[in-house]
Amino acid sequence: MLELEDALARILSAIPAPAAETVPPAQADGRVLADTVRSAVALPPFDNSAMDGYAVRAASVRSARADAPVRLRLAGKVAAGHVFGGELEERACIRVFTGSPLPRGADAVVMQEDTRVEPGQPEEVLVLDAVQVGENVRLAGEDVNLGAVVAAAGDMLGPGAVSLLAAAGLTGVRVGRAPVVAVLATGSELREPGLPLGPGQIYESNRAGLAALARRAGARTVVCPLVADVLADTRQAIEGAFRDCDILVSSGGVSVGEMDFVKRAFEEIGGEMQFWKIAIKPGRPFAFGRQGEKLFFGLPGNPVSAHVTFLLLVRPALLRWQGARDVSLPAHPGVLAEPLVNSGPRRHFMRVKVERDGTVRSAGAQASHLLASLAGANGLVDVPPHTSLARGATVPVLWW
Ligand code: AMP
Ligand code: MG
Repeated sequence: MLELEDALARILSAIPAPAAETVPPAQADGRVLADTVRSAVALPPFDNSAMDGYAVRAASVRSARADAPVRLRLAGKVAAGHVFGGELEERACIRVFTGSPLPRGADAVVMQEDTRVEPGQPEEVLVLDAVQVGENVRLAGEDVNLGAVVAAAGDMLGPGAVSLLAAAGLTGVRVGRAPVVAVLATGSELREPGLPLGPGQIYESNRAGLAALARRAGARTVVCPLVADVLADTRQAIEGAFRDCDILVSSGGVSVGEMDFVKRAFEEIGGEMQFWKIAIKPGRPFAFGRQGEKLFFGLPGNPVSAHVTFLLLVRPALLRWQGARDVSLPAHPGVLAEPLVNSGPRRHFMRVKVERDGTVRSAGAQASHLLASLAGANGLVDVPPHTSLARGATVPVLWW
């Protein structure tokens, strides 16, 4: 049986080089940047006012106080998006607004609240407070220098990065192409939700959850029809699914029973099995194979096993396929509000509920068919074999 880390390394080494496509910044959220982007402009591009107020020379208002205002001549006005043509003279000021380019000759802005205009004297401004050179001025390039890196290849873009790319003037962003992931479920007991259940039948649930996880990892998904536990049907289903996808994720039929046909069917259509079985709970029966450049993940059928192995092994593959640098689930420290006990011989990824204050509890009973405790969970804790993690211990929690 493979260790989880070895399995992951083998999967990641089988990922083909990412293909890129260009999307507008507005559609780049959640995508992986393909090329490092440098800004073609400085941000801000010019010195400008941070306030509604008056552009001044700080030296002319050095003595200003509320009880001894300095009187300045109002020499003009410049709105955001306009430029003041002349130069600010001594003992004069220019009306500016947030984002107005700083007029030539000015070196500070007095905020409007620190000024007064007397009735009948609209050409004069009384300044009630002194300002330092540079006060209320946003300097060209203080956010991003011309030519500086705004986002690096391999970054997963979020809303902030998308805004920055737009501010840098980009109309298109090269991102890793989204893989098409086909989701397939095998099992003669499975029924489509909406149909009446016969004896011994259950509603199929893995495709919905796995497709949701795949989309969260940036994939586009194709949901395949259900497949009975029949070798020929399984072979045909796998072959058909591969035609429309880059990555095939199946669930069920990958264990040791005589009704488990998935691995055999995959090999019969020319797939190369890379490994099978990993030393974790839940999810020991887990198969990974290649079909040319395409990838195959055979997940166990138990819903929790399918979900957890997807998070630990398939999600990283989907992200790396798009060129992402960081592919593992983020780990944040949490404090156990109760012990977590693993009496078994395999690492147990226990599903937990992390509260907003960082305390961590088991999400419920941990058997791998129990969906209610999966639905209530938002994290996993890796509990080593034959180990009890004590109440009060700080542990890394894998968040999803
Ligand atoms: P298997 O891995 O095929 O041996 O399935 C293990 C357990 O998971 C069995 O109880 C199956 O009924 C159940 N199971 C398998 N596939 C699904 C599925 N797609 N949806 C819900 N339960 C499933
Ligand atoms: Mg089955």
